[in-house]
Amino acid sequence: MHFPNMAEPAGRTLGDEEVAALDRVIRSGMLNSVWGTAARALEREVGALYGSRHAIACASGTAALHLSVVAAAPDPGDEIITTPITDFGTVAPILAQNAVPVFADVDPSDGNLDPDAVAALIGPRTRAIMAVHLFGAPARIGELRDLADAHGLALIEDCAQAWLTELPGGGYAGTAGHVGTLSLQQWKHITCGDGGLTITDDDELARRMRLFADKGWDRAAGRSHESLGLNYRMTELQAAVAGAQLEKLPGVVASRRRTAVELIEALRGLGEGEGTAIRLPRPDGSQVAIELPRPDGHAWWLFPLVLPGGDAPELAAHLGAAGIPARAGYLREPLNQAPLWDRPIYGTSRYPLEGYRPAPCPEAERLVGSTLLIIDWNEHYTSEHVKVIADAVANYPGKA
Ligand SMILES: *Cc1c(COP(=O)(O)O)cnc(C)c1O
Repeated sequence: MHFPNMAEPAGRTLGDEEVAALDRVIRSGMLNSVWGTAARALEREVGALYGSRHAIACASGTAALHLSVVAAAPDPGDEIITTPITDFGTVAPILAQNAVPVFADVDPSDGNLDPDAVAALIGPRTRAIMAVHLFGAPARIGELRDLADAHGLALIEDCAQAWLTELPGGGYAGTAGHVGTLSLQQWKHITCGDGGLTITDDDELARRMRLFADKGWDRAAGRSHESLGLNYRMTELQAAVAGAQLEKLPGVVASRRRTAVELIEALRGLGEGEGTAIRLPRPDGSQVAIELPRPDGHAWWLFPLVLPGGDAPELAAHLGAAGIPARAGYLREPLNQAPLWDRPIYGTSRYPLEGYRPAPCPEAERLVGSTLLIIDWNEHYTSEHVKVIADAVANYPGKA
């Protein structure tokens, strides 16, 4: 059975609406968002969807994260606490601003930041916390916000994998911190190839982000530069496609939720156990434990499973052999162990990170090395796809 994926038309929601929007922009003759209307319209729509005062369109999710770090305004050498299980786009902006990433360990049940681990790392140079809602599961953002408030830190929420993730207290992921960031890259819930947005309720943070995205140029003030900035502008072409995609977002997330919950129910039915854990019998009489994801608020960018006994690579290979797009680990190594930390960062220099080496993160290392399994998820999956996956898990390891 074919599993639709996000690199092909059958695994995306790109269609006539995107073509028509693109056609309108191209025929308007204006492809640049400084003078066009599509990017500003997209910002209004995303702001309304999230109930945020400001939404700022930009070139990518990484650019959005860079804007959010700029908004937090670290001095060189200041520390930003983040997670070792994420896309490098979360960490690169910290380095770009000459700040120091401090990796906190994660909750072994879902790979999201462990607020206790974060609390233990807050020091005099901490400027911000960057949380990621990994795979679309809500991070413990209420606890992180309390920590940020108690210590006067900025809280940034990376929602690149978490479009419409719902928080336990109500509201979407991205609205509990000072700045939330979104990505429109090819492999996200909705796409325009590359693109990003930040959302915030804070006028001053929004001002800093808008300036940085446009060369520090306040267009109302004439050809004059107020602050350091790059060109992170979204084009009208990106915005046209993104605007059409945004209309389809609720359907995309609803569909992913429906089949993900079906799979959870099917897997629960396979073994004994309570709550989110099941135990499957092995032929030799032993059992393999599988922790199922908690569905609450989840946006299901991917469908993760945790195998506390370390069987994730083996089960991933078993599912892969059955034609299911499953992988172990998500990353080759967690970001605290990336090769980059042994090398110069800026030319031949590591300033201001000369003596810096990330601390171990044992839970993240265990997840990536042996306990985390991910199944690609897609809004075009049907109950048939769910059944094929559940049957393959039921046949692991080699049961008759
Ligand atoms: C994709 C992703 C990014 C980077 O977004 P781009 O649009 O690819 O630059 C950052 N963080 C996370 C968690 C992501 O999944």
